[in-house]
Amino acid sequence: MTPAIEFSNVSRVYGDVRAVDQVSLQIASGEFFAMLGPSGSGKTTCLRLIAGFDLPDGGQILLDGDDVTDRPPYARDVNTVFQDYALFPHMNVLENVAYGLRVRKVSGNEQRRRTMEMLELVKLSALAQRRPSQLSGGQRQRVSLARALINRPRVLLLDEPLGALDLKLREEMQIELKNLQRQLGITFVFVTHDQGEALSMADRVAVFNQGKVEQLDTPRILYTRPATAFVARFVGSANVAGRELAQALTGSAQPFAIRAEKIRVQSAGSAPQPGTIHCNGTLIDVQYHGAISRYQVQLASGDLFAAAVSNHAETQHSAIGSQVTLHWSASDAVPLAGEPG
Ligand code: ADP
Ligand code: MG
Repeated sequence: MTPAIEFSNVSRVYGDVRAVDQVSLQIASGEFFAMLGPSGSGKTTCLRLIAGFDLPDGGQILLDGDDVTDRPPYARDVNTVFQDYALFPHMNVLENVAYGLRVRKVSGNEQRRRTMEMLELVKLSALAQRRPSQLSGGQRQRVSLARALINRPRVLLLDEPLGALDLKLREEMQIELKNLQRQLGITFVFVTHDQGEALSMADRVAVFNQGKVEQLDTPRILYTRPATAFVARFVGSANVAGRELAQALTGSAQPFAIRAEKIRVQSAGSAPQPGTIHCNGTLIDVQYHGAISRYQVQLASGDLFAAAVSNHAETQHSAIGSQVTLHWSASDAVPLAGEPG
């Protein structure tokens, strides 16, 4: 099937910053696709290139197989939801949502019908007469979503749309957004710096680092098989052993990642289980997280490793400053490409 969006070797350079650096990727029609990465990694620039607000310095952008590389925004079947909502303050909810239809000169009856339907979909029917200033953050974000969807674009671009909401509301909106996307079957490209958000919502995730895609995979594969140290650390903050530490621990210089929840902690001196990789260190901090506690352990090499310890009634926690032994199964270590920085 023709991808909804295709980048081939797309670059955008600002002065000496390679904001987007030779990116190639394909997004399937109807996919919930996340672009994940730290601030400044090129996510927003990618969205702007898809929308046509910005043009690439090199490469090609296809939408549904059509080369749109040099087309203006209005000639692309794409709409955008911004983090700051960008609503018209002097219009009520209904007028804000109907705006896109008015511009397209859709008839009055049709406008009303489609606007009401859209308000229903985002659960705002009861608030149709309110001004944006009379709405909560979550409600405003719903208006901006409805306004972007009213023209039924084939692709919806969302740039950190939940970033301004508090945690509980953000989690509710994550579920609603996901349901909405399923219902409508529209391709969503969702930008976030929050790895939990990307993993929980997306069908596939592209992890950005300095304008490049480090890895593009399903959430499960990103988490269980990170390809690089950057991905291992950024997605779920895994422990990473570079060449030197790997050599000392395993006898091989192959860099690897090991998840905190795969590491067991024993007090130093007790015999490690046979067949496991183990190392000694000093417990320097314990952070309580409810179901688990996170141990920060300084290894003899100076590296810091984290281990997740389940909090059962019978859990005996080690004292800060004490010597502990970490051990894990060799099969839980994930080999990484390149030398970790
Ligand atoms: P993200 O959305 O991942 O935070 P951006 O795509 O906004 O990252 O930015 C990527 C890089 O490009 C950053 O270094 C940023 O400073 C730079 N950049 C983005 N837009 C411009 C611009 N209009 N002029 C100059 N530099 C820019
Ligand atoms: Mg951004």
